[in-house]
Amino acid sequence: MPSQDILVIGGGPAGLEAARGIADLGYKAILVEKRDRLGGTPDEAQYAALTPDLRNAEEAMDEMIAAVANNENVEIRLDSSVTGTNGTLGDFNVIVKNGKGSEKLNVGSVILATGFQHFDPGRETQQYGYYLYDDVVTLVDAEKMLKADTFVRPSNGEVPKRVCFIQCVGSRDRQIGNEYCSKVCCGIASKQAIEIRQQVPDCRVFIFYIDMRMYGYWENEIYWPAQEKHKVNYIKGIATEVLQKGDKLLVRGEDTTLGRPMEIPMDMVILSVGMEPSRGTKELAEIFGLEKNKYGFIETIGGALDTVSTSVPGVFAAGACTGPADLEDSVAMAGSAVMKSVITVRKAKGSKQ
Ligand SMILES: Cc1cc2nc3c(=O)[nH]c(=O)nc-3n(C[C@H](O)[C@H](O)[C@H](O)COP(=O)(O)OP(=O)(O)OC[C@H]3O[C@@H](n4cnc5c(N)ncnc54)[C@H](O)[C@@H]3O)c2cc1C
Ligand code: SF4
Repeated sequence: MPSQDILVIGGGPAGLEAARGIADLGYKAILVEKRDRLGGTPDEAQYAALTPDLRNAEEAMDEMIAAVANNENVEIRLDSSVTGTNGTLGDFNVIVKNGKGSEKLNVGSVILATGFQHFDPGRETQQYGYYLYDDVVTLVDAEKMLKADTFVRPSNGEVPKRVCFIQCVGSRDRQIGNEYCSKVCCGIASKQAIEIRQQVPDCRVFIFYIDMRMYGYWENEIYWPAQEKHKVNYIKGIATEVLQKGDKLLVRGEDTTLGRPMEIPMDMVILSVGMEPSRGTKELAEIFGLEKNKYGFIETIGGALDTVSTSVPGVFAAGACTGPADLEDSVAMAGSAVMKSVITVRKAKGSKQ
């Protein structure tokens, strides 16, 4: 039997926007999230403020959650996962499991919004000592500290005087097979550098970069204010290793502008970890038989003009499950996926009448 209901898998920014959009158009969205809360990675990783306007991340996510939580057109399944499916466009049978058992759903179309995970900086980048030194942290760890307004050295609880970011950890790296740019980390590092300067004004902040990739308005909204107003030091250089020396960290590498080796003492090092497909993204791609690209993200088949259609008709993908994406990309893709999935269920119904 054709169904007009639409299944959305993943309750992050992309999935929340998709469910809200489907409901606003008068269709029923069934939103399946494997965690016990909605809000996706920004909630799970406790982001502090969002680029580019430093808006409170929790507030922004709460607003998105509220739009679906009490919406009569949205059914929410938390702590749940899709474990199997059959059928085709207009008529998919899907099994959803939670701790209590399983249920069968019949839906006309599916939007996958299963997102990304942060690169594990212990993997093949051990030279930065993430698992060796307490004062080497990631963007995600730093985000939590900034959110709690306790930006201190994890090793001794003291306020740091010198902090640096190392860019492109786990991205743009042919040796580990992640040749792609994760797109958001230059902006996030610059945003965090501003927040550190605001919370700890005596702390000097450095960003070691290969090249700064700010796109669109992030250039004037984050990058220039970080340098000019907040006095963040950008150093074009490649950091090759981090060592402990006394109670300091020593960042070694090459200053590529001056063409000479550098060795700079720091109190804390923040690794700008990139994005990889989440485990859920890989699992769901298998369950629905979707093509993936060589990095494991879901392959969309329409090129630049259709960023949400997958290799299986009636199944769409939105947000960071398709590749590195910021919030703007994720919600824009969700809007496009909503439109295409609604068209799909309308056409499927029409063809069976
Ligand atoms: C350190 C860092 C900071 C960032 N800060 C910003 C910022 O300030 N501004 C900005 O624009 N972007 C930022 N980003 C990017 C931003 O986090 C992403 O653009 C956004 O989270 C993507 O949303 P999404 O819904 O596609 O995926 P996610 O947020 O990853 O959500 C995916 C959801 O799917 C769920 N899921 C996964 N698998 C399953 C499954 N099998 N079944 C059911 N549910 C499942 C997950 O639990 C999760 O809730 C940041 C990224 C990083 C790395
Ligand atoms: S956004 Fe910046 S830090 Fe992130 S991968 Fe691209 S160039 Fe590297």
